Amino acid sequence: EGNRTRPTQPIRYTQDMTRILHRRLALRAALRRGLERDCGLEVHLQPKIDIATGSIVGAEALCRWTLEGRPVPPSEFIPLAETGGLSRPLTRLVLNHVAAIVARRRARGLPALPIAVNLSAMDLTADDFVTGLLRDIHHLDLSPDTLSFEITESQMMTDLARSIAELESIRAAGFDIALDDFGTGYSSLGVLDRLPVTAIKIDRRFITPLTIAGARRSLAATAIAMAEGLGLGVIAEGIETVEHHHALVFLGCPHGQGFLYGHPMPAGDFETHHTTWSLPTA
Ligand code: C2E
Ligand code: MG
Ligand code: MG
Ligand code: MG
Repeated sequence: EGNRTRPTQPIRYTQDMTRILHRRLALRAALRRGLERDCGLEVHLQPKIDIATGSIVGAEALCRWTLEGRPVPPSEFIPLAETGGLSRPLTRLVLNHVAAIVARRRARGLPALPIAVNLSAMDLTADDFVTGLLRDIHHLDLSPDTLSFEITESQMMTDLARSIAELESIRAAGFDIALDDFGTGYSSLGVLDRLPVTAIKIDRRFITPLTIAGARRSLAATAIAMAEGLGLGVIAEGIETVEHHHALVFLGCPHGQGFLYGHPMPAGDFETHHTTWSLPTA
Protein backbone atom coordinates (compact mmCIF):
# COMPACT_ATOMS: atom_id res chain seq x y z
CA GLU A 1 0.00 0.00 0.00
CA GLY A 2 2.37 2.63 1.33
CA ASN A 3 5.05 1.51 -1.07
CA ARG A 4 2.85 2.00 -4.10
CA THR A 5 2.14 5.62 -3.28
CA ARG A 6 5.72 6.51 -2.40
CA PRO A 7 7.15 7.35 -5.81
CA THR A 8 4.45 9.99 -6.27
CA GLN A 9 5.45 11.70 -3.02
CA PRO A 10 8.89 13.16 -3.55
CA ILE A 11 8.53 15.49 -0.55
CA ARG A 12 7.99 12.58 1.80
CA TYR A 13 10.99 10.85 0.26
CA THR A 14 13.17 13.87 0.89
CA GLN A 15 11.97 14.09 4.48
CA ASP A 16 12.85 10.42 5.03
CA MET A 17 16.29 10.94 3.56
CA THR A 18 16.84 13.97 5.76
CA ARG A 19 15.75 12.07 8.85
CA ILE A 20 18.07 9.16 8.04
CA LEU A 21 20.95 11.54 7.36
CA HIS A 22 20.36 13.35 10.64
CA ARG A 23 20.32 10.10 12.56
CA ARG A 24 23.61 9.05 10.96
CA LEU A 25 25.23 12.38 11.74
CA ALA A 26 23.96 12.35 15.33
CA LEU A 27 25.11 8.75 15.82
CA ARG A 28 28.54 9.49 14.38
CA ALA A 29 28.94 12.53 16.66
CA ALA A 30 27.98 10.36 19.65
CA LEU A 31 30.45 7.67 18.56
CA ARG A 32 33.21 10.28 18.26
CA ARG A 33 32.48 11.47 21.82
CA GLY A 34 32.34 7.90 23.09
CA LEU A 35 35.73 7.16 21.51
CA GLU A 36 37.29 10.35 22.88
CA ARG A 37 36.11 9.60 26.41
CA ASP A 38 36.38 5.80 26.21
CA CYS A 39 32.76 5.75 27.27
CA GLY A 40 30.07 3.23 26.29
CA LEU A 41 32.43 1.10 24.21
CA GLU A 42 33.39 -2.39 25.26
CA VAL A 43 35.21 -5.36 23.79
CA HIS A 44 33.55 -8.75 23.99
CA LEU A 45 35.38 -11.99 23.37
CA GLN A 46 34.17 -15.05 21.50
CA PRO A 47 36.13 -18.31 21.81
CA LYS A 48 37.76 -20.04 18.84
CA ILE A 49 38.10 -23.75 19.39
CA ASP A 50 40.05 -26.70 18.08
CA ILE A 51 37.23 -28.71 16.54
CA ALA A 52 38.84 -32.10 17.12
CA THR A 53 39.68 -31.59 20.81
CA GLY A 54 37.31 -28.85 21.95
CA SER A 55 40.07 -26.78 23.55
CA ILE A 56 40.12 -23.01 23.19
CA VAL A 57 42.82 -21.85 20.77
CA GLY A 58 42.05 -18.15 20.66
CA ALA A 59 39.37 -15.50 20.80
CA GLU A 60 37.91 -12.80 18.60
CA ALA A 61 37.55 -9.27 19.97
CA LEU A 62 34.17 -7.85 18.96
CA CYS A 63 33.38 -4.24 19.68
CA ARG A 64 30.15 -3.35 21.51
CA TRP A 65 28.63 0.10 21.80
CA THR A 66 25.88 1.15 24.19
CA LEU A 67 24.32 4.56 23.65
CA GLU A 68 21.81 5.88 26.18
CA GLY A 69 21.29 2.41 27.56
CA ARG A 70 20.71 0.78 24.16
CA PRO A 71 23.12 -1.38 22.19
CA VAL A 72 23.94 -0.11 18.69
CA PRO A 73 24.85 -3.10 16.47
CA PRO A 74 28.33 -3.22 14.85
CA SER A 75 26.62 -3.47 11.45
CA GLU A 76 25.45 0.09 12.13
CA PHE A 77 28.39 1.76 13.87
CA ILE A 78 31.36 0.12 12.12
CA PRO A 79 30.41 1.60 8.70
CA LEU A 80 29.84 4.97 10.42
CA ALA A 81 33.33 4.80 11.87
CA GLU A 82 34.83 3.73 8.55
CA THR A 83 33.26 6.55 6.57
CA GLY A 84 33.70 9.15 9.28
CA GLY A 85 37.40 8.99 9.90
CA LEU A 86 36.89 7.14 13.18
CA SER A 87 38.45 3.81 12.28
CA ARG A 88 41.82 4.71 13.71
CA PRO A 89 40.48 5.75 17.14
CA LEU A 90 38.17 2.70 17.14
CA THR A 91 41.01 0.30 16.41
CA ARG A 92 43.15 2.03 19.03
CA LEU A 93 40.38 1.69 21.63
CA VAL A 94 39.94 -2.01 20.84
CA LEU A 95 43.72 -2.54 21.11
CA ASN A 96 43.80 -0.74 24.47
CA HIS A 97 41.02 -2.98 25.78
CA VAL A 98 42.76 -6.08 24.44
CA ALA A 99 46.03 -5.01 26.13
CA ALA A 100 44.16 -4.65 29.44
CA ILE A 101 42.61 -8.12 28.97
CA VAL A 102 46.02 -9.61 28.19
CA ALA A 103 47.59 -7.96 31.25
CA ARG A 104 44.78 -9.25 33.50
CA ARG A 105 45.12 -12.77 32.12
CA ARG A 106 48.86 -12.65 32.67
CA ALA A 107 48.44 -11.40 36.26
CA ARG A 108 46.08 -14.31 36.94
CA GLY A 109 48.51 -16.82 35.53
CA LEU A 110 46.20 -17.73 32.64
CA PRO A 111 47.84 -19.04 29.44
CA ALA A 112 48.56 -16.60 26.60
CA LEU A 113 45.86 -16.72 23.94
CA PRO A 114 45.89 -14.87 20.62
CA ILE A 115 43.01 -12.37 20.59
CA ALA A 116 42.01 -11.42 17.06
CA VAL A 117 41.26 -7.78 16.31
CA ASN A 118 39.20 -6.93 13.22
CA LEU A 119 40.73 -4.38 10.88
CA SER A 120 38.84 -2.47 8.22
CA ALA A 121 40.44 -3.07 4.85
CA MET A 122 39.85 0.58 4.06
CA ASP A 123 42.26 1.58 6.84
CA LEU A 124 45.00 -0.61 5.54
CA THR A 125 45.70 1.82 2.73
CA ALA A 126 45.14 4.97 4.79
CA ASP A 127 48.36 6.94 5.28
CA ASP A 128 50.49 5.64 8.10
CA PHE A 129 47.73 3.39 9.46
CA VAL A 130 49.84 0.27 9.71
CA THR A 131 52.91 2.21 10.91
CA GLY A 132 50.78 3.73 13.69
CA LEU A 133 49.19 0.36 14.42
CA LEU A 134 52.54 -1.35 14.86
CA ARG A 135 53.74 1.52 17.08
CA ASP A 136 50.63 1.20 19.30
CA ILE A 137 51.11 -2.56 19.52
CA HIS A 138 54.73 -2.08 20.55
CA HIS A 139 53.81 0.44 23.27
CA LEU A 140 51.08 -1.85 24.55
CA ASP A 141 53.55 -4.71 24.74
CA LEU A 142 51.33 -7.00 22.64
CA SER A 143 53.08 -9.96 21.03
CA PRO A 144 52.00 -12.51 18.40
CA ASP A 145 51.00 -15.00 21.12
CA THR A 146 48.48 -12.48 22.51
CA LEU A 147 47.28 -10.68 19.36
CA SER A 148 46.28 -11.51 15.81
CA PHE A 149 44.21 -9.83 13.11
CA GLU A 150 41.21 -10.44 10.87
CA ILE A 151 40.54 -8.57 7.69
CA THR A 152 37.68 -8.82 5.21
CA GLU A 153 38.66 -9.49 1.64
CA SER A 154 35.92 -7.59 -0.14
CA GLN A 155 37.28 -4.06 0.38
CA MET A 156 40.87 -4.97 -0.36
CA MET A 157 40.51 -5.04 -4.12
CA THR A 158 40.54 -1.27 -4.62
CA ASP A 159 44.29 -1.09 -4.08
CA LEU A 160 45.47 -4.67 -3.98
CA ALA A 161 49.21 -4.04 -4.33
CA ARG A 162 49.17 -1.52 -1.50
CA SER A 163 47.04 -3.80 0.71
CA ILE A 164 49.48 -6.65 0.16
CA ALA A 165 52.43 -4.44 1.13
CA GLU A 166 50.71 -3.27 4.34
CA LEU A 167 49.69 -6.82 5.28
CA GLU A 168 53.28 -7.90 4.71
CA SER A 169 54.55 -5.41 7.27
CA ILE A 170 52.07 -6.79 9.83
CA ARG A 171 53.27 -10.30 9.01
CA ALA A 172 56.91 -9.20 9.24
CA ALA A 173 56.18 -8.19 12.86
CA GLY A 174 55.08 -11.81 13.39
CA PHE A 175 51.31 -11.38 13.72
CA ASP A 176 48.86 -13.84 12.18
CA ILE A 177 46.21 -12.49 9.82
CA ALA A 178 42.99 -14.32 8.96
CA LEU A 179 41.00 -13.46 5.86
CA ASP A 180 37.51 -12.85 7.28
CA ASP A 181 34.15 -13.70 5.68
CA PHE A 182 35.93 -15.87 3.12
CA GLY A 183 33.79 -16.71 0.12
CA THR A 184 31.72 -13.54 0.16
CA GLY A 185 34.13 -11.35 -1.80
CA TYR A 186 35.44 -11.56 -5.29
CA SER A 187 38.99 -12.70 -4.81
CA SER A 188 40.17 -15.34 -7.22
CA LEU A 189 42.47 -18.20 -6.35
CA GLY A 190 45.30 -16.17 -7.81
CA VAL A 191 44.61 -13.28 -5.44
CA LEU A 192 44.30 -15.55 -2.43
CA ASP A 193 47.65 -17.05 -3.23
CA ARG A 194 49.26 -13.58 -3.23
CA LEU A 195 47.68 -12.31 -0.01
CA PRO A 196 50.05 -12.63 2.95
CA VAL A 197 47.41 -14.13 5.25
CA THR A 198 47.90 -17.13 7.52
CA ALA A 199 44.31 -18.43 7.61
CA ILE A 200 40.86 -18.09 6.10
CA LYS A 201 37.63 -17.76 8.04
CA ILE A 202 34.90 -19.54 6.11
CA ASP A 203 31.87 -17.27 6.18
CA ARG A 204 28.81 -18.29 8.14
CA ARG A 205 26.68 -18.57 4.99
CA PHE A 206 28.64 -21.71 4.01
CA ILE A 207 28.32 -23.23 7.49
CA THR A 208 24.61 -22.62 8.07
CA PRO A 209 23.47 -25.12 5.36
CA LEU A 210 25.97 -27.83 6.45
CA THR A 211 24.58 -31.29 7.14
CA ILE A 212 26.48 -34.50 7.87
CA ALA A 213 25.00 -36.17 4.76
CA GLY A 214 25.86 -33.24 2.50
CA ALA A 215 29.24 -32.32 4.03
CA ARG A 216 31.40 -34.03 1.43
CA ARG A 217 29.88 -32.08 -1.47
CA SER A 218 29.60 -28.73 0.35
CA LEU A 219 31.35 -25.47 -0.46
CA ALA A 220 32.81 -25.63 3.06
CA ALA A 221 34.58 -28.87 2.08
CA THR A 222 35.97 -27.19 -1.01
CA ALA A 223 37.18 -24.18 0.98
CA ILE A 224 38.89 -26.40 3.56
CA ALA A 225 40.65 -28.44 0.87
CA MET A 226 41.72 -25.30 -0.94
CA ALA A 227 43.10 -23.63 2.21
CA GLU A 228 45.03 -26.74 3.09
CA GLY A 229 46.40 -26.92 -0.44
CA LEU A 230 47.68 -23.36 -0.02
CA GLY A 231 49.11 -24.11 3.42
CA LEU A 232 46.64 -21.82 5.20
CA GLY A 233 44.84 -22.32 8.51
CA VAL A 234 41.04 -22.64 8.49
CA ILE A 235 38.43 -21.35 10.90
CA ALA A 236 34.75 -22.05 10.28
CA GLU A 237 32.47 -19.28 11.59
CA GLY A 238 28.82 -19.39 12.60
CA ILE A 239 28.77 -22.92 14.02
CA GLU A 240 25.40 -23.02 15.74
CA THR A 241 24.35 -26.67 15.88
CA VAL A 242 25.76 -30.03 16.90
CA GLU A 243 25.18 -31.15 13.30
CA HIS A 244 27.40 -28.32 11.99
CA HIS A 245 30.04 -29.42 14.50
CA HIS A 246 29.86 -33.10 13.44
CA ALA A 247 29.98 -32.19 9.75
CA LEU A 248 33.14 -30.14 10.39
CA VAL A 249 34.72 -32.93 12.45
CA PHE A 250 34.02 -35.21 9.49
CA LEU A 251 35.66 -32.72 7.11
CA GLY A 252 38.67 -32.34 9.38
CA CYS A 253 38.19 -28.59 9.74
CA PRO A 254 40.86 -27.52 12.26
CA HIS A 255 39.24 -24.54 14.00
CA GLY A 256 35.76 -23.18 14.57
CA GLN A 257 33.78 -20.41 16.17
CA GLY A 258 30.08 -19.96 16.79
CA PHE A 259 27.22 -19.74 19.23
CA LEU A 260 27.46 -23.52 19.86
CA TYR A 261 30.85 -23.07 21.53
CA GLY A 262 30.19 -19.70 23.07
CA HIS A 263 28.60 -16.34 22.31
CA PRO A 264 30.68 -13.17 22.36
CA MET A 265 30.89 -12.29 26.07
CA PRO A 266 32.33 -9.64 28.36
CA ALA A 267 36.04 -10.23 28.99
CA GLY A 268 35.41 -10.92 32.68
CA ASP A 269 33.08 -13.79 31.79
CA PHE A 270 35.53 -15.12 29.21
CA GLU A 271 38.20 -15.52 31.88
CA THR A 272 35.92 -17.75 33.90
CA HIS A 273 34.53 -19.52 30.81
CA HIS A 274 35.52 -23.18 30.56
CA THR A 275 38.68 -23.70 28.53
CA THR A 276 37.43 -26.85 26.86
CA TRP A 277 34.16 -27.29 25.08
CA SER A 278 32.47 -30.67 25.15
CA LEU A 279 29.51 -31.98 23.20
CA PRO A 280 26.29 -31.35 25.09
CA THR A 281 24.90 -34.64 26.39
CA ALA A 282 21.13 -35.15 26.05
P1 C2E B 1 32.96 -10.66 11.82
O1 C2E B 1 34.34 -10.19 12.07
O2 C2E B 1 32.73 -11.63 10.71
O3 C2E B 1 32.46 -11.23 13.21
C1 C2E B 1 31.61 -12.34 13.36
C2 C2E B 1 30.19 -11.90 13.63
O4 C2E B 1 29.36 -13.06 13.68
C3 C2E B 1 30.01 -11.21 14.98
O5 C2E B 1 28.95 -10.28 14.82
C4 C2E B 1 29.56 -12.37 15.88
O6 C2E B 1 28.83 -11.94 17.01
C5 C2E B 1 28.71 -13.16 14.93
N1 C2E B 1 28.62 -14.57 15.26
C6 C2E B 1 29.51 -15.34 15.90
N2 C2E B 1 29.09 -16.62 15.99
C7 C2E B 1 27.87 -16.66 15.39
C8 C2E B 1 26.92 -17.71 15.17
O7 C2E B 1 27.09 -18.88 15.54
N3 C2E B 1 25.77 -17.35 14.51
C9 C2E B 1 25.53 -16.08 14.11
N4 C2E B 1 24.37 -15.83 13.50
N5 C2E B 1 26.42 -15.06 14.29
C10 C2E B 1 27.57 -15.36 14.92
P2 C2E B 1 29.03 -8.80 15.39
O8 C2E B 1 29.72 -8.80 16.71
O9 C2E B 1 27.68 -8.20 15.26
O10 C2E B 1 30.02 -8.08 14.38
C11 C2E B 1 29.66 -7.90 13.04
C12 C2E B 1 30.83 -7.40 12.23
O11 C2E B 1 31.25 -6.11 12.67
C13 C2E B 1 32.08 -8.28 12.39
O12 C2E B 1 31.99 -9.40 11.55
C14 C2E B 1 33.16 -7.29 11.97
O13 C2E B 1 33.27 -7.23 10.58
C15 C2E B 1 32.63 -5.99 12.49
N6 C2E B 1 33.30 -5.66 13.76
C16 C2E B 1 32.98 -6.03 15.03
N7 C2E B 1 33.87 -5.52 15.92
C17 C2E B 1 34.78 -4.80 15.18
C18 C2E B 1 35.95 -4.04 15.51
O14 C2E B 1 36.37 -3.91 16.66
N8 C2E B 1 36.61 -3.44 14.45
C19 C2E B 1 36.18 -3.58 13.15
N9 C2E B 1 36.88 -2.97 12.19
N10 C2E B 1 35.12 -4.29 12.83
C20 C2E B 1 34.41 -4.91 13.82
MG1 MG C 1 36.09 -11.13 12.34
MG1 MG D 1 33.79 -13.15 10.10
MG1 MG E 1 31.10 -13.19 8.72
